[in-house]
Amino acid sequence: MADLVRNYIGGRWVAPIARDTLTVTDPSSGEELARLPLSGPSDVGAAVAAAASAFPAWRGTPAVERARVLFRLKALLEEHKEELAVSLTGEHGKVIAETRGEIQRGIENVEHACGIPSLMLGDTLEDVASGIDCASWRQPLGVFGIITPYNFPVMIPMWFWPYAVATGNTVVLKPSEQDPLTHQRIVALAEEAGLPPGVLNVVHGGRAVVESVCDHPDIVGVSFVGSSRVAAMVYARAAASGKRVQALGGAKNHIIVMPDADMEAAADACAASAFGSSGQRCLAGSVFSGVGDAYAPFRDRLMDVASSMRLGNGLDPETDMGPVISAAHRDRVRSFIDVGAAGPGRLLLDGRAASVEGRDGGYWVGPTVFEDVPPDSPLGTEEVFGPVVTLSKATTVEDAIERVRRSRYGNACSIFTTSGRTAREFRHGSGVAMMGVNVGVAAPMAFFPFGGSKESFYGDLKAQGRDAVSFFTEQRVVISRW
Ligand code: NAD
Repeated sequence: MADLVRNYIGGRWVAPIARDTLTVTDPSSGEELARLPLSGPSDVGAAVAAAASAFPAWRGTPAVERARVLFRLKALLEEHKEELAVSLTGEHGKVIAETRGEIQRGIENVEHACGIPSLMLGDTLEDVASGIDCASWRQPLGVFGIITPYNFPVMIPMWFWPYAVATGNTVVLKPSEQDPLTHQRIVALAEEAGLPPGVLNVVHGGRAVVESVCDHPDIVGVSFVGSSRVAAMVYARAAASGKRVQALGGAKNHIIVMPDADMEAAADACAASAFGSSGQRCLAGSVFSGVGDAYAPFRDRLMDVASSMRLGNGLDPETDMGPVISAAHRDRVRSFIDVGAAGPGRLLLDGRAASVEGRDGGYWVGPTVFEDVPPDSPLGTEEVFGPVVTLSKATTVEDAIERVRRSRYGNACSIFTTSGRTAREFRHGSGVAMMGVNVGVAAPMAFFPFGGSKESFYGDLKAQGRDAVSFFTEQRVVISRW
C-alpha cells in the first residue's frame, strides 16, 4: 500500500487522528502515489496549539535572524530545484519546464521575504504636536491559516507563508489534497534551514480542515486561494469569527488581439496562455476576441499551434502538454465541451478523445477550440479550468473591452497591439486587476501584488509584495510626550 502523507505539527511528522484517506495519483498514468489523510478538527486544534506556543519566541527573534532562516531556505531550494521540479511534474502532470518555472516563482517569494528587516520598517514623526512624537511599528499578530489549491501546489503556499513567518507570525497550512507531496519536501527543507518547531505546521485534508481553520478562535487571519465558490464561503465564514481574510478565487480571462499586433507572436503567446498547464492556471486565457481584420489570421495561426501540440508525460522533453489533475476534472472539462458542441457555435478542434500511447490510465484532454459561442453561454462565462478556448470576432476595441467588463470574474486580461493609445484605453477601461500588454500570462512577480477583481478576489490586501507584509502585520502607533 502507498505511504500515508503525514501532518507536520510542532516540528514532528505525525499521523492524523482521523482515519479516512484519499488517494494521490500520478495524473499521467492514474497510478497511486500516496494516501492522504482527511484530518479533522482535532488535528487542526493540535496544529494551532503548536503554532500558538511557538509564537512568543519566534516573534521575539530579531527580524534579521528570521530573515537568515529564509536565506538558508533559498539556498536549499536552489540546490534541490531539479529534484523538486521532477516531483511536482509527477504529482501534478504539467511539463517539467513549467514546474521549473513554478519552483522559481516560489523561490522568488522567499527572496523577497528575506528583505523583511527593511520591508517591516515603521514610520516616525517628531513634533506631531509641540513636544509630542509619533511612531508606528508593524507587529505580527499570531497564528495564520493558509489554504491553497492544486494548480500551483508549491508556488501558491509560498505566496503567503514565507511572509507570514518572516514578519514573526506562525502558520497552519492546509495544502491541496490532490498534489501535496512536493511541498512536504519544502517543509523538510525549511526545517533544515533552521525554522523552529511550531512556526510552520501542515494539516492535510479537505473541507473539514478548511472549516476548522475558518472557525478556530486562536487563528487571527486566513489566506485562501481556490475556486470563487469556496473563496466566498471562506471569506464570509472566517470574517464572521473576527479574522482578517484574503481569498483569491476563480477566473475567466479575456484576451483581445488588435489588427496592428504582431499576429504570429500574439497567437503563439495566446496558445501558450490557453494550453500551458493544460489550461489549469488562474491566469490562462480562455475567451479570445480578434478585432476586425485581426480575427482570421489570428484564428488560423492559433489553430495551427493548437492542433500540433503533443500530449504526454511532462518529464518527456517532447511533450507540449500534460494531463489534467484527475479523472473527475477530465470528465468535468469534457462535459463543458459536450454542452458547447451541441451549439450554437462551432467546435473547430475537439480534445475529448485525446489519448497517449502506453498511458491509458492518464487523465487526457486535448486542446479544444470553439468559434462564435454565445457570450452568455456556459463556455462564454464559466471557468472551465482546462485546455478549452472560445474565439470570436469583435467589431471594435470598445466592444471587446465591454465584453471583458461584463464578466463576473476579473482575474486577468490581456491585449495584443502596437498602439500605445489602444493599450492605454484597455488599461483604463478593463476593470481587471492583472493586465497584460503583449503578454499572454499577466503574472505579477513576487514584489508586486497578486490578486484579481470582482468575483476573482474577496478582500482588500492581495498576495505577495508589500500587501503581504501589511496582511501579516498590524500597524501600531505610539504617541509620546516626555
Ligand atoms: P478548490 O476551490 O476546489 O480548492 C481550494 C482549496 O479549498 C483546497 O485546499 C480544497 O481542499 C478546499 N476546498 C475545496 N472544496 C471545499 C469546500 N466545499 N469547502 C471548504 N474547502 C474546500 O480549488 P482547486 O480546484 O484546488 O483549484 C482551482 C481553482 O483555484 C480555480 O478556480 C482557479 O481559478 C483558482 N485559483 C485562483 C488563483 C488566483 O490567484 N486567483 C490562483 C490559483 C488557482
